[in-house]
Amino acid sequence: QAPVLAIDGPGGAGKGTVSRLIAERLGWHLLDSGALYRLTAQAAVRHAVALNDESALAQLAATLDVAFLAEQGSARVLLEGEDVSAAIRTEQAGERASQVAALPAVRGALLARQRDFQKPPGLVADGRDMGTVVFPGAALKIFLTASAEERARRRFLQLQRAGVDASLPSLLKEIETRDARDMQRAVAPLKPADDAVELDTTELAIPDVVDRIQKLLAD
Ligand code: C5P
Repeated sequence: QAPVLAIDGPGGAGKGTVSRLIAERLGWHLLDSGALYRLTAQAAVRHAVALNDESALAQLAATLDVAFLAEQGSARVLLEGEDVSAAIRTEQAGERASQVAALPAVRGALLARQRDFQKPPGLVADGRDMGTVVFPGAALKIFLTASAEERARRRFLQLQRAGVDASLPSLLKEIETRDARDMQRAVAPLKPADDAVELDTTELAIPDVVDRIQKLLAD
């Protein structure tokens, strides 16, 4: 089995950027598992499926027509052939993703799809339950955290760079709501695996986080 580096944690802790940089450095595959939940929610909106219709959502998740196109520095995501890279990144899309992610049948439907990403020479898996549920045998499990204020600030800057209007106080509130739902749900709640290494990135720059994880992986 190809090795897996599991990187879990709440939104805005830097998982996405850190995972992409490490995957690029190592030449490993990358799984952005959050995108699968965002895409499921997006498909639900597109096909007028209610966000609490568990069996219909699970059916959508199981048959999701998606393509991840890797490009230098970014990744494009297609849903049913249409580029939804920007559409799935909004705060509303994240909120909807977190709603469908609380449904056990949806999580079950996405399990095999996520495990299919485990291919040689290795996989960097970014999410909430990579180390606890999807890849319990991961070679290294990292749990990235940062204070809610810092995570809201980072999201704010990210949105600003993308030219999207945002307000810091409402971002903070959204982050806290989403964290609470992700931590309190019955299935695969957001929490570190017993054997995860916790890294608080509040005071750390991205390159330092990448270096630390690479050192841990080499040990
Ligand atoms: O990481 P991202 O913000 O894209 O994730 C969106 C939502 O998808 C999260 O708030 C969480 O509810 C859900 N998710 C999950 N399990 C994962 C990845 C994401 O439940 N492995």
